[in-house]
Amino acid sequence: MIDKTPARDDAKTRSDAPWFADSTAVGERGWHELIISESVAGRDIAIPVYVWKGHEPGPIVCVTAAVHGDEINGTGTIRSIVSDPPFDLLAGTLVMVPVVNLLGFERHSRYLPDRRDLNRSFPGSATGSLASRLAHAFFNQLTKHCDYGIDLHTAAVRRTNFPNVRADLSIPELRDFARAFGTELIIDSGGPKGSLRQAATKAGCPTIILEAGEVWKVESAVVEYTVRGITNCLRSLKMVEGTPSRPAYRLETDSSTWVRATAGGFLEFHVAPGEIVHDGEAIATSWDLGGAEVETIRAPRDGIVLGMTTIPSVAPGDPVVHLTYPKKGSLKKIEQVMENLDDDSLHERTREDLSRNFVVTDHDDEEE
Ligand SMILES: [Zn+2]
Repeated sequence: MIDKTPARDDAKTRSDAPWFADSTAVGERGWHELIISESVAGRDIAIPVYVWKGHEPGPIVCVTAAVHGDEINGTGTIRSIVSDPPFDLLAGTLVMVPVVNLLGFERHSRYLPDRRDLNRSFPGSATGSLASRLAHAFFNQLTKHCDYGIDLHTAAVRRTNFPNVRADLSIPELRDFARAFGTELIIDSGGPKGSLRQAATKAGCPTIILEAGEVWKVESAVVEYTVRGITNCLRSLKMVEGTPSRPAYRLETDSSTWVRATAGGFLEFHVAPGEIVHDGEAIATSWDLGGAEVETIRAPRDGIVLGMTTIPSVAPGDPVVHLTYPKKGSLKKIEQVMENLDDDSLHERTREDLSRNFVVTDHDDEEE
């Protein structure tokens, strides 16, 4: 089960004080440098922030990427939006940060040089650890001024995720914002303590995260999915023309488990991210290096493949497939929708793209 965290404080604490984005004129866009720390050599460490102001007043939306320094699908997405804007910003302000954790990004690492996780350090403190000070500098100079947040992540190293939004759905404006993004899968969770989204939401900036794809990559289907999602969110706030596109189906859930290998072996996968599996269905077969079958790993119940390992060699206890389950009812309707999806729909292309790095075969099972 995914943990639930308390709803945000009643008092909205968004700061209306002057901030760096004020120097971007209405209808203009451009880069700013946000000083967030100092290097060992005593030089400023600054992160680039893109600010785009619409022609009319409206909400301030912040899109952040690479809070985990190796999760760069979001960095590629922001680059795509900056270099080839897919919409015209009519109202409000769009703030985009391609890399929040610059020190981790430069090392291709999730973590900071002090081995702490920046996404467990928010809102941070001016007198704390390196991670805590960085978080504090970012939070105070940026997050506190924003009305909504979209924080872009990927699966952890050696795993991939089918695009899914995570948000505390008990908060109405967060639920609406999460739904507007338009992913098929929404995980109802408030996020871990110290995460940007939990701290931001608590401070009056409702923030969702997207988990999509792998570390160290900019995947074309994931970028397309994410650009569409951001556009949908901006549409829902009337910052961009049009109404949000609807997903093929929608599953909102707080229930997921990792199915693990029980023995060491080399895996042959029978499922891909985004697919439906049935109770007892084979999801992977494990072989020893001599070619003898070790075990068939099966789904414990009906579910959808939220994520999976990208490394086929496993030890006992290693995670193989991350399954998510409906809160109630069955997956029958979703299965019908999936069967009728066009091969060139974004859902199907994403499923195809994410499974390109491993072999997926049918399982020869006489009992099925
Ligand atoms: Zn992450």
